[in-house]
Amino acid sequence: MKTQHKPLDIAVDLKKGEVRFKWQDGRATTCSLEFLRANCPCAMCNEAREKAASEPLYVLPPELSNPDGSLEKDRPVEIVGQYGLQFFWADGHRAGIYTYDYLHNLQAKK
Ligand SMILES: [Zn+2]
Repeated sequence: MKTQHKPLDIAVDLKKGEVRFKWQDGRATTCSLEFLRANCPCAMCNEAREKAASEPLYVLPPELSNPDGSLEKDRPVEIVGQYGLQFFWADGHRAGIYTYDYLHNLQAKK
């Protein structure tokens, strides 16, 4: 998988509940853990967000509308190959890979 955006540095700050990125293009961005959890890229969360966007009435599951950004204590996050991060959310969601391009975009939307 090819990525356009690569971080030079990633700081996962569990105390402040945020992740700070320094990108090769010179940008520095910060995402809260709640925001990252709300944008979990696993199949289940993707489907819930798509439904919410396409159906006139849809009740978002609480983990997306009011996310808890808690990570597993022993294994909060890992680097996946050359292209992304895998967060191990305490609520069991861990299948989604946050690619660097996705993370770079997320910040742009915020
Ligand atoms: Zn998910």
